[in-house]
Amino acid sequence: MSKERVVVIFPHPDDESFGASGTISKFRDEGVPVTYLCGTLGEMGRNMGNPVFANRETLSSFRKKELAEAAKQLDIDVEMLGYRDKTLEFEPRKQVAEHLKERIEALGATIIITHYPGYAVHPDHDALGAAVIDAVEDMPEENRPQVWMHAISNQSEQDLGKPDIVADVRPYWERKLAAIKAHLSQADGMMSLIEDHDQASEQLERLKTERFYTYKFQ
Ligand SMILES: [Zn+2]
Repeated sequence: MSKERVVVIFPHPDDESFGASGTISKFRDEGVPVTYLCGTLGEMGRNMGNPVFANRETLSSFRKKELAEAAKQLDIDVEMLGYRDKTLEFEPRKQVAEHLKERIEALGATIIITHYPGYAVHPDHDALGAAVIDAVEDMPEENRPQVWMHAISNQSEQDLGKPDIVADVRPYWERKLAAIKAHLSQADGMMSLIEDHDQASEQLERLKTERFYTYKFQ
């Protein structure tokens, strides 16, 4: 048995599938337990399915079911953190960090996957990533898990250089696609991209590599 224990921390149902499901699949194949701590239910999302099947009131229950299905595809555990979508940046960061630290310690995380604060293109992504850093920084040095940060912004390589972890996730592509497809209400844009064979899309190619920056604690 591997000694690793991976905890993925993102704010929305589908962040795990788009951002890290290849890496998650690799860990699962190695027998590493993976838990997704999902910040919100993504209930303020603008996509309601295509054709539309959800509305503002029902979206959260659809997204919860979609996340359960994606978790089944990826063979991971999910815990909801219970925050409200699009409000994470307004939560007291210290409180969020304390909450996260409690869960990180309880789960015995050795590797955390989260967003790179400031380079994650969405205020919820930036806020939760920043709270993860605070949480881990607050732990005794010898107990700190590694923190792998997913940058999304086009500006990231210019500012930060190349990420130190670059994983070709083609071997896990089928599983990654299945996980993305599980997020039915959100995945429509992606699906048309995949079905549009003429367009050897850059966006699609990008999904076949997952890149992370390891956080360097002072
Ligand atoms: Zn997101």
